[in-house]
Amino acid sequence: MIVSADVVVVGSGAFGASAAYHLVRRGLRVAVLERAALASQTSPRAAGLTSQVRATPALTTLARRAVTKLAAFSDETGQPLRFTQSGALKIARTERDAEQLALEVTRGVAAGIPIDFVSVAEARRRLPILGERGIVAITWSPTDCNVEPSELPLGYCRAAEKLGAVLLPHTPATGFEIGPRGVEGVRTPRGTIATRAVVDAAGAWARLVAAGLGAPLPVVPTRHQLLITEPIPGVGPEFPIARVIDVNVYVRHERGGLMLGGYEPDPVQVDAATLPPAFDVADLPLDLEVLWRLARSVREQFPIFQEPTIRVAEHRGGLPTLTMDDRYLVGPLPGVAGAWVMSGCCVGGLSVSPALGEAIAEWIVDGAPALDCSDISPARFAGPIDEAALRERCRHAYATHYRASGGAPAR
Ligand SMILES: Cc1cc2nc3c(=O)[nH]c(=O)nc-3n(C[C@H](O)[C@H](O)[C@H](O)COP(=O)(O)OP(=O)(O)OC[C@H]3O[C@@H](n4cnc5c(N)ncnc54)[C@H](O)[C@@H]3O)c2cc1C
Repeated sequence: MIVSADVVVVGSGAFGASAAYHLVRRGLRVAVLERAALASQTSPRAAGLTSQVRATPALTTLARRAVTKLAAFSDETGQPLRFTQSGALKIARTERDAEQLALEVTRGVAAGIPIDFVSVAEARRRLPILGERGIVAITWSPTDCNVEPSELPLGYCRAAEKLGAVLLPHTPATGFEIGPRGVEGVRTPRGTIATRAVVDAAGAWARLVAAGLGAPLPVVPTRHQLLITEPIPGVGPEFPIARVIDVNVYVRHERGGLMLGGYEPDPVQVDAATLPPAFDVADLPLDLEVLWRLARSVREQFPIFQEPTIRVAEHRGGLPTLTMDDRYLVGPLPGVAGAWVMSGCCVGGLSVSPALGEAIAEWIVDGAPALDCSDISPARFAGPIDEAALRERCRHAYATHYRASGGAPAR
C-alpha cells in the first residue's frame, strides 16, 4: 500500500479513470481508490452514445473535444475501444421540438459540427426500421458515434497504470484528513495515503464522499435502464443512433440487434446513504416494463419493438447522478482546498469523460482548464440544499432530458 500521492482519485468509473489517466500524463503521482472491482459499476452499463450539440457553446465545445478524443482513444492510450461513427438522427414529433431542432442546427453550424434537417425519406434510407408516421422534423448529425462503454474506463485505468498510477481495487476511501490548509490525506482500511488533492469521482456515492470532505453536493443518483434485443435480420452497425425528443427515447444497433433506452417521467431516485456497504450496481432492481412503456410511446416511429418475435438478450441499468440543471458538476469543491469533484453526469458522463478528465487535470496542474468549464462549476450551486426541491428538480431534469440538453427555451 502506498503512503503518499500527489492526487488520490476516488472511483474508477469513466470519470475517475479519465482523471487518473490525464493527471498521470501530466507527471503527477496518482492513486486510484475503488471500493469494488475496477470500472465495474454504472459506467460499463451505459449505452455509449455521444451527442455533440449541447445547450451552451461551452458544453458543445467539451462534447466535441470528447468525440475527437474518443476517435483517437486507441492511438492515444494504446488500449482497445470499439468506436462506431454511426451518426445520429433526432426526431421531433411536435412543432415545439421542431423549433428546438432548428436551434440545434444553428448552434451546431456555429460550432462547426455537421448537422442539418433531412426528409423522412432520407432518414429512412439511413435507418430502414424507422416508421413514417407522426414525425414533424428530423436532423442528421453524421459525426456522432457510439463506443463500447466497458472498454473506456478500463482502458483509461490500464493506460494510467502503465504510466505509473497505482490502482487499488476493493479499497474504499473511508474518510479524509483535513487540516488548516485543506486536504492532507485519505483514509482507507489499508492505511492512510498522504495527499494534498482528492478527486471525488465516486458516481452514485459522490455525495457521501463530498460530505466526508465537508462539502454539500446537490446530486441525486437516478436509475436509468436499457434493453438489447436478440439479433434481428437486416439490422447492422451502419444504423445511426435515433432519438425521439418528447418521450426521451433512444435506439441504436448493438450486436446485430437493437438497443432501446430512455428517460421515464417518474424515475427511481436512490439515496446512496441507505445502500448496504457491499452494494454493487449489478444488484440494482430493474423494471423491464418501464422500457416496454417507452417502446410503446414510439410505436409509430419504431413499430419493430411491437413485433411478437422481438426477444430481449440483455437488460441492464445503473445509477447516474442528476443535477438540478441537467449539467455536469466538475471542478473544485467550494470551501475545501485540494478537494475536486467529477459528478452530476446526467446520463451523459461516459461519452464526455475524455474531455472532462483532461479538463480536471489541467485545472489541478495549471490552475485552470484550457476549455471553458464555468457552466459546470460546482460554485453555481452554493448555499443550503432543500432535499425535496433537489429531488423534484433532478426528477424534472431527467424527465425532460432531451429538451434540457438541447437547450430548448423553457415554456
Ligand atoms: C443504462 C445507461 C445508459 C447510459 N447511456 C449513456 C450514454 O449513452 N452516453 C453517456 O455518455 N453516458 C451514458 N450513461 C451514463 C454513464 O454511465 C455515466 O455518466 C458514467 O458511467 C458516470 O461515470 P462515473 O465514473 O461517475 O460512475 P461509476 O462508473 O459508477 O464510477 C464510480 C465509482 O466510484 C466507486 N466508489 C464509490 N464510492 C467510493 C469510495 N468511497 N471509495 C472508492 N471508490 C468508490 C464506485 O464503486 C464506482 O466504481 C448511461 C448510464 C446508464 C445506466
